[in-house]
Amino acid sequence: MCAKLKLKDYNFRGKKALVRVDYNVPLNEKYEIQDTKRIDASLPTLKKILSDGGSVILMTHLGRPKNKEYQFSLQHLLPYLKQVLEGVNVLFAPECIGGQTQQMVSALQAGEVLLLENVRYFGEEEAGDETFAKTLASYGDVYVNEAFSTAHRRHASTAVIAQYFPDDKMYGYQMEKEIDSLTRVMQNPQRPVTAIIGGSKISSKINVITNLMTKVDNLIIGGGMDFTFQKAMGAHIGKSLCEDDMLPVAKDIMNKAKDLGVKLYCTIDRIAADKFSNDAMRAVYDVKNIPDDMEGMDLGPETCILYRKVIMDSATILWNGPMGVFEMDNFSIGTFMVADAVAKATEKGAFTLVGGGDSVSAVNKFHLTDKYSYISTAGGAMLEYCEGKILPGIAAIEE
Ligand code: AMP
Repeated sequence: MCAKLKLKDYNFRGKKALVRVDYNVPLNEKYEIQDTKRIDASLPTLKKILSDGGSVILMTHLGRPKNKEYQFSLQHLLPYLKQVLEGVNVLFAPECIGGQTQQMVSALQAGEVLLLENVRYFGEEEAGDETFAKTLASYGDVYVNEAFSTAHRRHASTAVIAQYFPDDKMYGYQMEKEIDSLTRVMQNPQRPVTAIIGGSKISSKINVITNLMTKVDNLIIGGGMDFTFQKAMGAHIGKSLCEDDMLPVAKDIMNKAKDLGVKLYCTIDRIAADKFSNDAMRAVYDVKNIPDDMEGMDLGPETCILYRKVIMDSATILWNGPMGVFEMDNFSIGTFMVADAVAKATEKGAFTLVGGGDSVSAVNKFHLTDKYSYISTAGGAMLEYCEGKILPGIAAIEE
């Protein structure tokens, strides 16, 4: 997909740009930002608009407010924005719409930034209300969507608003990069293509797996969801995680893989534990024979060798979901092995995309963050994109 207008080619001189960002950042009890990545990622877009001689009106949500709770106010982000946009006048509108906001927008000068209060303080945002979207739209001359992580929601500021800018709407740099990376994996990728899917449950990834099977050469399964496949194949999985109601689905996936000629890799051996704890007694077992009182927590050594080889021989790799209970150091080896193998494949020239909250936490934990072609922090939106869905935030820009 490619939108008509590109941010880099647009001249923002004298224009008020309404920029939908995702500043849904974690705050501590003193309302200090714990992770600034989402804000930092949007800065190139903001700087381009400002350096052209435009002004920026920032729209975002923070948390899930019910009744305009203070903890979700965007004024907590103002000090950091002022710090990173050094020398820029950064103002704050205490409501995202209304008379005062209108006045502040009218008075906004080129080179200035106006941060609007939490758009989710109004229920109309999540309802995708047209009147609300139109009011927001009236504040700007051009709409920039820089919030891929909310692109799977048809909210007022993420999708509905775009219709009021038929000739002046585009992606921000970060969102454009995110879509380009996903497109590179999902459309005409270099082969062989390998998808690595982990995490706890099949049920949450079934649509992704089904769609990816039509695109990939190899599908590697890890994490807790592997046990549902194992049980479907008749394995004795002890007290490992298993979704019994998903057994027919697992069988169906295995049959489809055969029909499509996709190589489906499930685990061979497992590190199992006598309890769900880092200091549990642990041992390696054949995945087909895990004792009744043990549960599989991580990949075993033979599985690690097999998965590593498949990964290293791939030209395009998509990885989503941990291979084991990586939050516990004693069960993080499989996830580390995958993180490392994907990093090495990238070094060898593969295009690699890592996505989803847990995989991103894992690569951060292993200090491998800058070793991949692209890391997507947009969990839900990325999964829906990989399911083959048309995301409302993307459709609104492309239409
Ligand atoms: P998900 O949210 O479905 O992507 O699952 C991520 C979670 O799966 C992480 O918190 C992992 O600790 C967990 N997980 C991975 N492997 C296993 C396993 N074998 N048993 C239980 N939980 C697991």
